[in-house]
Amino acid sequence: MKEIKNNHLYWDGCDTVALAEKYGTPLYVFSESEIIAQCQALREDFLDRYPNTRAAYASKAFSTVAMVKIIEREGLSLDVVSGGELYTAIKADFPAERIEFNGNNKSIDELEMAVDYGVGRIIVDSLQEVALLQTICQRLNKTAAILFRITPEVKADTHAFISTGQKDSKFGIPLEEDILFPLVQEAIEAPNLEFLGFHFHVGSQLSDNSAHLAAANVALRLALEVKQRFDYAVKELNYGGGFGVRYTENDVRKPYRYFLEPLMELTEAFCKEHQMPRPEIVIEPGRSIVAEAGITLHTIGSIKELPGIRTYVSIDGGMTDNIRPGLYQAEYTGLIANKAWETPTQTVTISGKACESTDILIKDLQIPDVTSGDLFATFTTGAYGYSMASNYNKLPIPAVVLVKDGQDQLIVKRQSYEQMLENEQPYQEFGGEAHGHSFS
Ligand SMILES: *Cc1c(COP(=O)(O)O)cnc(C)c1O
Repeated sequence: MKEIKNNHLYWDGCDTVALAEKYGTPLYVFSESEIIAQCQALREDFLDRYPNTRAAYASKAFSTVAMVKIIEREGLSLDVVSGGELYTAIKADFPAERIEFNGNNKSIDELEMAVDYGVGRIIVDSLQEVALLQTICQRLNKTAAILFRITPEVKADTHAFISTGQKDSKFGIPLEEDILFPLVQEAIEAPNLEFLGFHFHVGSQLSDNSAHLAAANVALRLALEVKQRFDYAVKELNYGGGFGVRYTENDVRKPYRYFLEPLMELTEAFCKEHQMPRPEIVIEPGRSIVAEAGITLHTIGSIKELPGIRTYVSIDGGMTDNIRPGLYQAEYTGLIANKAWETPTQTVTISGKACESTDILIKDLQIPDVTSGDLFATFTTGAYGYSMASNYNKLPIPAVVLVKDGQDQLIVKRQSYEQMLENEQPYQEFGGEAHGHSFS
């Protein structure tokens, strides 16, 4: 994806300096070749290697109509966690039966929308959801295939803020006999629900497979328990996502195989030992499909040298287009895209333009001499960047460009000031005259 030519950074064959001139900054740039390569790796390491498997792209990592269309063409399923992500999938004509709906607090409206569209799986994550879903399905005269998201009580080796499988978690149904099994029974008996099995997601940005393996053990034991208690065969287990990517030189990216081979071996062995048919195994990678495909381009503005302390190099975005450093101390690396060959001469801090001290993108980065107007590229911003972007300080959401083999296409326009105010209504003094100002 990454090349350096004529001192410029190229991304999937496109000169990033030319892209910045054409579309302005901040700009998210996604390499379609890299997204396709990740889908291909998933097929090689998992889907084509093991029968009866599925991979659902966790669209919260980066959800746009164009992205959903790529995922559909690559043959993956799609995981959505809100009405908005489902709406995006619907607008992209994504096949309903290949959609999985996750979420720890789905609203009635969202569940109705999902049932009405006929999504393939609903991952139940609350104690009230089974009854609610049965009522909705009955009213709409539909059936829904469901799994239970469990809290596997394993601690993932990642930042605590993105660990989700520990006992004290807002996600999943607790592993308490008198909570879980009555729910399973309720689901099995519900006329409009088809109970398929269990789901877990242990956390994100993992470079170690132990949490997945421990959680798979829990899920398999539950499947066995369901067979023994209810004489009911669990047909599907969903092992979630969380496969780590490379943000900086300190990260080692493990191939899908590193996680999935031992997981599948464990699963096969368990099923053989207990003489149960191996359920369909589903995974939900988000970050690992899209993170490394994306970069963000920013224009450098103010450069503030504090002698003996540090030099702040400010960019025309920051936490508004990438909240991860502020949210969980995520680390990134980058370079000066129009001086990509030049030798570093200084150590600087790349800071954003939002009014928060935590709006620091990168601490202590080595860069060459820079001036205002130079272009900064941050790597590995494809996941949880655009999708977590905000209008803080009333900064517009940046544009998104998709590139492939030297071609580019705009897939999300830059938000305008008018669009930011679109939903605002004219102010009227209570009990007084209208201070009319119409925005339309
Ligand atoms: C976020 C999430 C994923 C994807 O996690 P990644 O770390 O992006 O792979 C998968 N499943 C569920 C339920 C999630 O919440």
